Amino acid sequence: TSFDDVQLTEIIRNNVNLARYDKPTPVQKYAIPIIISGRDLMACAQTGSGKTAAFLVPILNQMYEHGLSAPPQSNRQYSRRKQYPLGLVLAPTRELATQIFEEAKKFAYRSRMRPAVLYGGNNTSEQMRELDRGCHLIVATPGRLEDMITRGKVGLENIRFLVLDEADRMLDMGFEPQIRRIVEQLNMPPTGQRQTLMFSATFPKQIQELASDFLNNYIFLAV
Ligand code: AMP
Repeated sequence: TSFDDVQLTEIIRNNVNLARYDKPTPVQKYAIPIIISGRDLMACAQTGSGKTAAFLVPILNQMYEHGLSAPPQSNRQYSRRKQYPLGLVLAPTRELATQIFEEAKKFAYRSRMRPAVLYGGNNTSEQMRELDRGCHLIVATPGRLEDMITRGKVGLENIRFLVLDEADRMLDMGFEPQIRRIVEQLNMPPTGQRQTLMFSATFPKQIQELASDFLNNYIFLAV
């Protein structure tokens, strides 16, 4: 199996090659076609399995294919100071969010799609300046994302793709109320459909409940 077997748009496939990913890992091999087909997904996969590219590559591919990277036009809602990303990845820690962001930059290279990263610490104004440059995909820890929403820097009205990465760790860290508040803000009209992907190392009852609350007719994948 190679990445050529997956239908990727040229720029994304080039970026996968530039990252020197020759052969998809098992989670990539199964998850990428499922995500490109538009289905929701609950994937049980460990760190080190290649799960990050398993969701970033197809999401960026679909955002690019559907012209979602184009700057919004003549819509008064789009002020320079508030961003309306199309993709949102929630992660438990600053370290994980940073890793996901670094991979997102590689796969979005030369696509005009801009990722941004938000996490807690003394870096609020720096992150706000980054947001002001525009962003299509936000990688965030739940608390800092809520903070940026409260500050009026980010709106979730246009989210088409939602990923909960290391969902079990986010619950262990007590992020469930934040995650539920964030998800309640999604899918406001006229956005319509949202595709939701959950990744977790384990699949306890709490994760099963979150999956049935957030996912729609989902495919279950264990690697
Ligand atoms: P992850 O499980 O997403 O944290 O990925 C673990 C590590 O494997 C990261 O350093 C990735 O850059 C690397 N990696 C992921 N997929 C591939 C692949 N298909 N080929 C080579 N390296 C990969």
